[in-house]
Amino acid sequence: MSGDWLSLAADGVFPVTVDGDGRALAAPPASGFPFAGTVQGEGKLCGIPSLFVRLAGCNLRCAWAGCPCDTVYAARGTATRVATLEVARRVARNLGNIRHVVITGGEPLLQPRGVERLCRLLGEMAPVHVTVESNATLFDEGVADAVDLMSLSPKLATSAPATDAGHHAARVDAGVIQRFISRAGERGRDFQLKFVFSAAEDAVEIRKILARLRGWRNEDVLLMPLGATTEALQRVALAAAGCAVREGWRYCDRLHVSLFGNRPGV
Ligand code: SF4
Repeated sequence: MSGDWLSLAADGVFPVTVDGDGRALAAPPASGFPFAGTVQGEGKLCGIPSLFVRLAGCNLRCAWAGCPCDTVYAARGTATRVATLEVARRVARNLGNIRHVVITGGEPLLQPRGVERLCRLLGEMAPVHVTVESNATLFDEGVADAVDLMSLSPKLATSAPATDAGHHAARVDAGVIQRFISRAGERGRDFQLKFVFSAAEDAVEIRKILARLRGWRNEDVLLMPLGATTEALQRVALAAAGCAVREGWRYCDRLHVSLFGNRPGV
C-alpha cells in the first residue's frame, strides 16, 4: 500500500512531550501544559481532549477581508517528510488519556493514501476516534471509510482573494461534499458541515449550498465566526450565533484561539 510517507507542516504532531520512541522532547508543548494534548477548538467535538496531526500543502488560497488563512504556514510553508508509521507512533506515545486524534492541514486530502494509512495504523495501536478536517474539494473513498468524523468546511465567496480565480472556481464542489455525506451515511460514520461566518449575507450562500445536498440534518451544519484573535471573533460571534438560531443550525466557537491565542502547535 502506498501512503508510507506524510508531508507534515511545521507543528506536525502536537502538542506532544515525547517522540515516537518515548524519548522526552527538548521543547515543551506550545500549549503551556506540562503534558501532551490540547482541546479540539471547533466543531461538534469542541472541548474534547485531542492530539493533532497537521499536514502540509493546500489547494485553496483563502484570504478573507482583513483575515488571511490562519494556517498559511501549513498551506504554503516548509514541509517535513516523515514516515507514516513514525507519525502514528508519535501520536500513540503521547495519547495518555486522550482518545481523539484530529488530522488537519492545510488540506489533508492532498495526501489521501498517507491519511488512510495513518487512520488504519492508529486504529491498530489504540482505540482512538479520528477526525479529518478538509476543505471538501477533494474526495477519496479510502479516507472517507477510515475516519470517524469527516469535517467538511466548504469556503464561501468571502474567502476568495482578489487575484486568484482558481480559488474561486474550486472552493465549493457539491459533488465532493455529497459523496462524503453519502459515504458517511452508508458506513454509519459522522460528518459535519462547518462554515466560516463573516457577515449576514453568508447565510444566503450557505442555504444555496445546502439546497444542492441531501442526507444532512440541521445539527450537522455549524457556523464558526471569522477571526484570528479573541477580539475579532467577538465582533462577529453574536451575528453568527443569531444566524445559527434563526436557521436552526449550530454555532461553534474557536475555543483554541480564546484559550491559547492564534499560534501554531496548540
Ligand atoms: S482551505 Fe484552509 S488551509 Fe487552505 S487556504 Fe483555506 S483556510 Fe487555509
